[in-house]
Amino acid sequence: MGTALVVLHIDGLGADSLEEALRAGLTPFIQHLIDAEGYEIHRYRCGLPSTTPFVQAGILYGDNTNIPSFRWWDRERQLMVRFGAGSTFKKVADKYFHDCHPFARHGACIAACYPAGAAEDFGISYRERTYSEDENSRSASRIVLAYLANPIHLADWLWYAVVSIWRTSTEYVAARMSGRRPSPEYVLTDAAEEIFVHHLTRYAVEKAMYEGYSPIYAGFYAFDETGHAFGPDHRHTQSILKHVDHTIRKVAEARRDRYELVVLSDHGQIETVPFYAQDGVRLGELVAGSMPGFRVEEMKGKTFGPDAEHAKGRIRLTYTGGLAHMYVGNGKRRLTFEDVVASHPELVHNLLRQDRIALMMARGRRDDIFIAGGVKYRGAGVKEVLAGFEEPDIVYEQLTRLNSFEQAGDLILFGVFRGGKQINFEPQLGGHGAFGGEQGHPFVLAKREWMIDTSHVHGAHQVHPILSDLRDRLKKEEGPVVKPALRSGG
Ligand SMILES: [Zn+2]
Repeated sequence: MGTALVVLHIDGLGADSLEEALRAGLTPFIQHLIDAEGYEIHRYRCGLPSTTPFVQAGILYGDNTNIPSFRWWDRERQLMVRFGAGSTFKKVADKYFHDCHPFARHGACIAACYPAGAAEDFGISYRERTYSEDENSRSASRIVLAYLANPIHLADWLWYAVVSIWRTSTEYVAARMSGRRPSPEYVLTDAAEEIFVHHLTRYAVEKAMYEGYSPIYAGFYAFDETGHAFGPDHRHTQSILKHVDHTIRKVAEARRDRYELVVLSDHGQIETVPFYAQDGVRLGELVAGSMPGFRVEEMKGKTFGPDAEHAKGRIRLTYTGGLAHMYVGNGKRRLTFEDVVASHPELVHNLLRQDRIALMMARGRRDDIFIAGGVKYRGAGVKEVLAGFEEPDIVYEQLTRLNSFEQAGDLILFGVFRGGKQINFEPQLGGHGAFGGEQGHPFVLAKREWMIDTSHVHGAHQVHPILSDLRDRLKKEEGPVVKPALRSGG
């Protein structure tokens, strides 16, 4: 029977930030894992886009092709695909993950973007306040009521709710007073996330361990949400790490001698400046200015131009941090760069005059097309522009992989990255999605004796075989037998 495996996914915590938190003493339990249990930090590169649905698909299925962003336009189904509250991924899920070996088969996959073949998800989906109706899923009431029925949980949760709301609001006011502008929307999600889902997810993990599921994969998003609202370096965001550390300790205590633990993250975060911070003009408004008569819809954001009925055409923009996809055509196929220039020359010209946009990428008839600083590059020629970034060859490889996705925008835009800060298409103070800085450098925290090697990982899909192999090796291990304590019918 061997040893079972539990994997905790800490959203948005880059490898550098983890090392900094360790130095600052914010994560004493992770320090203990390193000092006393032989854990080490394995850095890896998550690839592009540096966003959870893409990275998690890579980790859980080994295939994240055609997941170009946190949100995208499915031309064939004429549908905006998005994750989070009101996720629509279900409507296109049949197109994905064929011939894959999902990581969590027969196990439990809790608060993740995808089911990953799991037998149980304990009713907690990824950043949705609604709960899965899947047959394999317990009803929300069952898990919530079981959790709250324990007076210690209830008291703990109520106390935590009061402290958390108080702290989030005072930090919000303090940040406003000091001239920063945390996004109220993110502040609210942050509080909800932190109070409820984080606690409930931890409880579900402990329950899954008690019931003997293996492997268990669970996502924790409070750090990422707080980073979006306040910026990753803000003291409030840093303070969330103490709770993350506490959660890791609680799960580690529940291992007994039956489970091994891996902690990993999906991407980092960087400090960002909203695109409109300078002059109040959003990208959608700029595009609408170049395209009179067209309706320009930002997802998520605002809409510009005439209503759908009277518009000459529709342009859709989907944002993930410093990455924007622009869907110019209404057809079922992705347009080539030549087609876009031929139909809308003024659009491309005006976008290129924007000093907030560092790079435009498109699919040419023959090569990948890149435009930076007003100069057009074909294929590997763009490496000279990328020279200022760490590992330009790898960034180039990641860019061309993203550009090969049929689901990507006709034009793909990247915000300027300067002095460690990036222009962000979303209204956030911390972000990720593009390249530059820590956003592309997450970690896997694993025991040295497992001898895993992530140095060659250039994209999250390459983590899947490493983690699957570890799961299988542990399962074969001689030693303490995994005995499901009380496997209820589910
Ligand atoms: Zn995020």
